[in-house]
Amino acid sequence: MANSVMTTPAATAAPANPYTTAQRQFDQAASLLELDPGMRAVLRQVRREFTVNFPVRMDDGTIRVFTGYRVQHNLTRGPAKGGIRYHPQVSLDEVKALSMWMTWKCAVTNLPYGGAKGGVICDPSQLSQQELENMTRRFASEISLLIGPESDIPAPDVNTNQQTMAWIMDTISMEKGYSVPATVTGKPLSIGGSEGRPAATGRGVKVVTLEACRRLGWDPSECSVAIQGFGNVGSVSAELLHAEGFKVVAVSDVFGGIYNRDGLDVPALLQHQAQHGRVGGFPGAREELSNAALLELPVTILVPAALENQFSLENAARIQAKLVVEAANGPTTPEADDIFHQRGVVVVPDILANAGGVTVSYFEWVQDLQSFFWEEKEINARLTRIMERAYQQVDDLAKEHRTTLRMGAYCLAVKRVADATAVRGIYP
Ligand code: GLU
Repeated sequence: MANSVMTTPAATAAPANPYTTAQRQFDQAASLLELDPGMRAVLRQVRREFTVNFPVRMDDGTIRVFTGYRVQHNLTRGPAKGGIRYHPQVSLDEVKALSMWMTWKCAVTNLPYGGAKGGVICDPSQLSQQELENMTRRFASEISLLIGPESDIPAPDVNTNQQTMAWIMDTISMEKGYSVPATVTGKPLSIGGSEGRPAATGRGVKVVTLEACRRLGWDPSECSVAIQGFGNVGSVSAELLHAEGFKVVAVSDVFGGIYNRDGLDVPALLQHQAQHGRVGGFPGAREELSNAALLELPVTILVPAALENQFSLENAARIQAKLVVEAANGPTTPEADDIFHQRGVVVVPDILANAGGVTVSYFEWVQDLQSFFWEEKEINARLTRIMERAYQQVDDLAKEHRTTLRMGAYCLAVKRVADATAVRGIYP
């Protein structure tokens, strides 16, 4: 049993470095695929890492310097693609890991993109709307050397949203002298955004959760679900899983979580959250609990929809869920992955589970380039097809290599990128 693995007092250990995690995952896949050493060396590093320190005028008239990053891991299969996050814990290594995961995510779903990510070290809750706009516009201008519809296309991520994308689109367009909607995705509909984009990541999470249950022979109405994180991804996942008949028993946000073993009334909870800005205090909850305690609840399915490093050597053996659907990027360390694998906990990996967002980002970019817009029904149907096909291909490879879904997904993705790299050859 997994208890034998729990000998290290990891509670005091530093959190895993996400870039080390990403590289360890890649190395494992490279070995399974027997990639040659040259190809390994190319793909296990990011291609470009760009750091900017830039001034922003604050409301009190002072100037503050912020640090931000845009990293492109790979450009082989098309323009780089990936979100921008605002968070106090943003670091270059985190953004490098996230950019690498974007490459694999786009390859798993077979989108014609490479991978990128951006971030600014800041606490957006401490900035006024004006300061946030000033910071976003100046950051957009600083990274405009890299971004554009043919080179690198940002999107929302943690603590950024449609408004952030509108400011970036406007800044780049003003510098060009004409509107360039395809510069970013996740924009408001009024300036070239796509139907279905705000709900896309959550919708993809629903599709893969249903797929996993179907393959495991589980009836949604008999599955309890705990969701960590109630931002764009967590809240939409809760709403759509509830609508499919799953019993959502616990959710949390940055302030903490709520639990009712008989199930939460998710539509009422969404209203409560919109009114109060938090899930805490919801009248339908029986208990309030911490984010860490939520992960250890006796539930069938866990959906981490917040940040990296939620499952580690420290807590993996205590997780009671039988299925983990990674709506967040990088929530599971390689050590926790091993423990889950030994204990038979099925993990639908981030690069598959949360690919719905970038998939509809791709639809948005295509619509912008053609100035021809689709209906939501068509978008959702295409999204579902792409996610189900990717799941099938990942599952086939996992079975072929007798490995986890994560390694199945990596084998699919890394092989696609390696094949593209090989056929293009090395310049000059
Ligand atoms: N930030 C999202 C992700 O991690 C979406 C990226 C995109 O749409 O480009 O997948």
